Amino acid sequence: MQLPREVIVGNGTIQEAAKISQKLGFTKSALVIAGSKTYDIAGRAVKELLIDRRIEVDTFLVETATIKDVEAVEERIRTLKPQVVFGVGGGTKIDVAKCSSARQDIPFISVPTTASHDGIASPLSSIQGSGKPYSVMAQAPLAIIADTNIIMQAPWRFAISGCADVIAKLTAVKDWKLAHEEKNEYYGAYAASLALMSARLVIESADLISERGEEGIHVLMEALISCGVSMSIAGSSRPCSGSEHLFSHSLETVRPNCSMHGERCGVGTIMMAYLQGANWKQVKRTLEKLGAPGSAHELGVDKHEVVKALDLAATLRPERYTILRKLNLSSEGYETVAKTTGVI
Ligand SMILES: [Zn+2]
Repeated sequence: MQLPREVIVGNGTIQEAAKISQKLGFTKSALVIAGSKTYDIAGRAVKELLIDRRIEVDTFLVETATIKDVEAVEERIRTLKPQVVFGVGGGTKIDVAKCSSARQDIPFISVPTTASHDGIASPLSSIQGSGKPYSVMAQAPLAIIADTNIIMQAPWRFAISGCADVIAKLTAVKDWKLAHEEKNEYYGAYAASLALMSARLVIESADLISERGEEGIHVLMEALISCGVSMSIAGSSRPCSGSEHLFSHSLETVRPNCSMHGERCGVGTIMMAYLQGANWKQVKRTLEKLGAPGSAHELGVDKHEVVKALDLAATLRPERYTILRKLNLSSEGYETVAKTTGVI
């Protein structure tokens, strides 16, 4: 079990970056991975703070999270041999920093600039061109520095997507339990409870989060980090990723780049909760309250694409037993599910 040792969430916490680096024993050198935008937003600040404390810093800018990006960063790590890698950004930059540092056996510190999904704190990374359209194990961040002041400046859509990614744990945990009961798969009650608690907290706090204030973002960040930790405890993405994530990954394959990860997961959660006999109406209501997509139209896809994605989702990860594999519906069956839940 790999867990973060330092987690700080709050206004202005980025100022602690160098102090935390030193506290963890990284007093000599660091590599900062960021995007060109996130470098301006937070990467430069991290770099300057480290330099102020006489830590040698190199930066590497990435714009995508492909296997080539990972290999390029690995090459830089091999040349410079930094003590630690900082990943500064939203999804892609953190994924690249996490994956390349894990492959080179160097610790990683996560500095998220958005709250759009739980990858900011999880031990998994999602890399394009790896042959897997879903996340694979890399390593848990040794520290997470989440500055709510920075995160609040990101477009609000990111936070909504993050909320939906947390709400998705409702169906993910149910799928995990199903795999335990029917396929004798390992099930960790503690990890499952942690993921579920995060989902419930975000549902209960939907009004507060909708106010778009710091308090709501704080709740969301803690929920996302708890989800990341639940995956570290489970040793897999099981507590946080079930059939609703399979739908999200499939829809991204069917119609790339038209929606955010969490947004697709939210819509998937509505339909999977229905299939699981859970309270799908509450999921739908909460997403609506948050302003998150609840239908194909709001995701920018058509009804055929939704049905196609559901078909594909059932076959995407044969080793991951979920409600989709259990029910093994036909395309007509999926269409009925999507219609009944108002997704199409
Ligand atoms: Zn997710």
